[in-house]
Amino acid sequence: MSFDAGARMQFLFTLRSNGVTDKRVLDAMEKVDRGRFVRGTFTDRAYDDMPLPIACGQTISQPSIVGLMTQALAVTPRDKVLEIGTGSGYQAAVLSYLARRVYTVERHRRLVSEARKVFDELGLSNVTAFTADGSRGLADQAPFDRILVTAAAEDPPGPLLAELRVGGIMVVPVGQSDSVQTLIKVTRTERGFDYDDLRSVRFVPLLEGIGRD
Ligand code: SAH
Repeated sequence: MSFDAGARMQFLFTLRSNGVTDKRVLDAMEKVDRGRFVRGTFTDRAYDDMPLPIACGQTISQPSIVGLMTQALAVTPRDKVLEIGTGSGYQAAVLSYLARRVYTVERHRRLVSEARKVFDELGLSNVTAFTADGSRGLADQAPFDRILVTAAAEDPPGPLLAELRVGGIMVVPVGQSDSVQTLIKVTRTERGFDYDDLRSVRFVPLLEGIGRD
């Protein structure tokens, strides 16, 4: 499978039919070949609208969910964005076309090194990946205009709320890890935080500490 004109057209059609309508988000997703972020036999399925297994028992998210989350994040070209849960690096690559700077944090070293390699190959010079427990935030680079969490937390992690700039937006799946979760959008105002429920989703859990590989 290659991300040729036909595959791209079909991919964009599926995104649009699933509610991804933001032109900038669609343009960014048209540029990023999801096939570069999956391995082995799963490359045949790279352009299907489904999550797929990646190393370390994790998953690359479903493209329409990546689109909807990115759309909800309302990224502007001036934004400094933090993603928690690099996984394959696909979501971070999409964000790199929309933001000024992207920092992405993953608790599995192996996933970080594989994602870095793909970012290099694709010439994405505004993305930096770190191995760390992202639930603690990324103090060195804070504050952030946008924060996207791609693993489910029981509540939006306090350190991440603290690193969100006033006027900033965080999108995070919340709920128990083994059931249906709710994707929420948190907006930081002068007075506090506003919360909006977006939709039901299913993500792997946000875990504490660094992984063994
Ligand atoms: N955004 C990814 C998919 C993420 S899957 C993509 O585009 O492919 C969720 C990822 O979050 C997993 O790789 C998991 O290891 C990671 N994760 C879970 N808890 C974490 C934590 N506390 N800090 C950093 N990464 C975490």
